[in-house]
Amino acid sequence: MTLNRRSFLFRSGLNAFGLAAAMQLIKPAKAEAAFLAPKESARSCRPDDSLTALIEGNARFAAAWQAKNKATSLNDRAQVMSNLWLDNCFLPASVLEESQSPWASILSCADSRVAPEWIFDAAAGDLFVVRSAGNTPFNEGIASLEFGVAVLKTPLILVLGHSNCGAVKAARSSHSLTPLFDQLIMPIRANLVPGNNLENAVKNNASATAQQLSTRSDVLANAVQMGNLQIVAGYFDIASGKVSII
Ligand SMILES: [Zn+2]
Repeated sequence: MTLNRRSFLFRSGLNAFGLAAAMQLIKPAKAEAAFLAPKESARSCRPDDSLTALIEGNARFAAAWQAKNKATSLNDRAQVMSNLWLDNCFLPASVLEESQSPWASILSCADSRVAPEWIFDAAAGDLFVVRSAGNTPFNEGIASLEFGVAVLKTPLILVLGHSNCGAVKAARSSHSLTPLFDQLIMPIRANLVPGNNLENAVKNNASATAQQLSTRSDVLANAVQMGNLQIVAGYFDIASGKVSII
């Protein structure tokens, strides 16, 4: 009997090293070969150091963001923002359609002002992104990050909080929005420290989340232990456009 890869994953529960082991044990069907092994042409866009690439990309964004705020006309605003995307490693659609090799994973807030590709001056194929209100590490999100690390071999996960975060504000209040939302922000509430202001609460939540990823996922913990993965936390300041690594 041929063991279907999908049924194997479901039977094994996709837990602990299940994902990584499954990827090694199961010979992929021909159509999945590119999916499991990013092609060299996609890998060619990988920087030597992912964290440095994120920091440099954000510096380009922050400079344009601040210049835009000083611009006095539509044309001036468009001009300064057109300075972005000059340093991207763009891949043709034909390559992207076949394969991907993102060089960093981001767990960020769903907030409309915190789009990772935007604030890191990145292109399609660069970032593997999971988003939730308050960058909460929900199980499906962690599973997605496991996929990014085990299959796509992303060497970095950045957990990104941001200024004036509505989800962290909600966690700091006793107001209930919806049952599911209350459930989502429970981990944020667990990370609150009495006396912290909003900025420190956001930073503390991002740092605690970064630490929790390894304790909640053997796949991520093993990758860290093997030296194949770095997990860091960051804070995006909307006013300045700058990301600081916490
Ligand atoms: Zn937020």
